[in-house]
Amino acid sequence: MTLLNGIGVCPGIAVGPLVRMPDPVPEPSAGPGQVTDKNAERSRISPAMEAVAAELRARAEKAKAETRAVLEATSYMAVDPGMMDLAITGVVERNLSAARAVFEAANTFRDMLAAAGGYIGARVADIEDVRDRIVAAVLGVPMPGIPDPGHPFILVARDLAPADTATVDPEKVLGFVTTEGGPTSHTAILARTLGVPAVVATEGALSLKEGTTVVLDGGAGTLNAAPTDAEVQDAEKRMAARRGAKKTWSGEGATSDGRRILLLANVGDPKSAKAGADAGAEGVGLFRTEFLFLDSAKEPTVAEQEEAYAGVFAAFPDGRKVVVRTLDAGADKPLAFLDQGEEPNPALGVRGVRVAFEDSGILDRQLQAISRAAERSSSDVWVMAPMIALASEAEWFSGKVREHGLKTPGVMVEVPAAALNAEQILGVTEFASIGTNDLAQYTLAADRMAGPLAALNDPWQPALLKLIGFTGEAGEKRGKTVGVCGEAASDPVLAVVLVGLGVTSLSMSSRALADVGELLRTVSYDDCKRLAQVALDAGEAQAAKAAVRAELPQLDELGL
Ligand code: PEP
Ligand code: MG
Repeated sequence: MTLLNGIGVCPGIAVGPLVRMPDPVPEPSAGPGQVTDKNAERSRISPAMEAVAAELRARAEKAKAETRAVLEATSYMAVDPGMMDLAITGVVERNLSAARAVFEAANTFRDMLAAAGGYIGARVADIEDVRDRIVAAVLGVPMPGIPDPGHPFILVARDLAPADTATVDPEKVLGFVTTEGGPTSHTAILARTLGVPAVVATEGALSLKEGTTVVLDGGAGTLNAAPTDAEVQDAEKRMAARRGAKKTWSGEGATSDGRRILLLANVGDPKSAKAGADAGAEGVGLFRTEFLFLDSAKEPTVAEQEEAYAGVFAAFPDGRKVVVRTLDAGADKPLAFLDQGEEPNPALGVRGVRVAFEDSGILDRQLQAISRAAERSSSDVWVMAPMIALASEAEWFSGKVREHGLKTPGVMVEVPAAALNAEQILGVTEFASIGTNDLAQYTLAADRMAGPLAALNDPWQPALLKLIGFTGEAGEKRGKTVGVCGEAASDPVLAVVLVGLGVTSLSMSSRALADVGELLRTVSYDDCKRLAQVALDAGEAQAAKAAVRAELPQLDELGL
């Protein structure tokens, strides 16, 4: 079997030798009583921690702005005085080796973070990375992290930690292939940000021999582990075509026969909004407002919120559209200032707009801030709620939005019930935007963060496409806009299918705009509809994708 299948998360072809992530640093042995000279042993800890912090700081300096902050924060973690004290105590009082003492001290901190859950819990991977680096420094073994063989290569790994991904140089790393991770995993998001072809959840990739020349197809989601000479040459041509391809998008999104499809950006703050505008986005299809709230120990004031929203609107003046999503918090994104108690099943709990049903104070204040910022700007501001299931909920939300003087209320469709109720929902609201990340996890009953369930969360799943089609049809009947703002919209080939299912705008990470726009302008609306049917008729995600790709010979020329 030379063709391995995975989930393509960033399109493009890469050909080159396979280089493996170094093996994880082994767990230092646990038995106490191994140390004869405690003073010598304890004195190894601090220099190792300092060395790791210095290395992380050096990497931070070289990193791009968005990853610099993560690396700087991680470098402080590496010299945390509490962790150092705990490690030294391990040597002095429990006779542990320096490596074991560091390992256990870091694990204590990791467990504390994990218990906090949510976004803080998500830093567990960072502290494990720091732990392994310090242990490697103590033991004098190679540091874990992205290898540098001195030539461009395709990286194969189980999955990538944030600290690894931060310094990936796209000139050297031609593509990523991982055996774990899913369509919304960190590796996938990084690959899309860098525009590096990537395939995740590729079983068997780690057993391939280091140095083997492989062909990675991030569009098809395959890894050819034994390409023929002709296949290598063909791949090299396609890779060159892609490297020469446009990186930014200009103009309007449309099919070849002129059906307008707005191409919009997903943003989280004024900075990413500016990046979206620079990349050619026609507006914002999803402004995730959580960032302001999740980083705060107390609720941000109306004035603070107003400033942040105005900053995003400023990137898209003159009547351009900005869709603001109200706070999507609760459960897996807990708010420090809101005591919601424990939930047995957080993804199915009080999250998204449901937080506001009991007490709408936070929502009211947020709508007030959005309204004030909108008054100050010339953007066309739309407002939508996450996690709507019922038409009555949509009606309640629309009422709230209008009470605050905002004219265009809408909902996200991320719960299967909302897709099934789309016609009623669109009767009481102005638009819908489909969140395919959550809609996939709820339709397939598969946690979107669970690596082993990645294939179920593939946005090409025909069951998911059927619900999108259902929503698109409802939009057409009601004459209302139906967009997609989940990761599905970043896949150019899937974007064609989404248009065929009746979707009228696509919102994505800025980097994907050029690929989506270029492919869309080569396909007529009738073809989009025909290809949507091809995908719906396929039994499985991979078959759907392969069948649609087979109908688009222009993918070769576009390097997709
Ligand atoms: C989605 O669920 O598809 C979505 C866009 O929202 P988020 O990823 O923020 O949950
Ligand atoms: Mg969502």
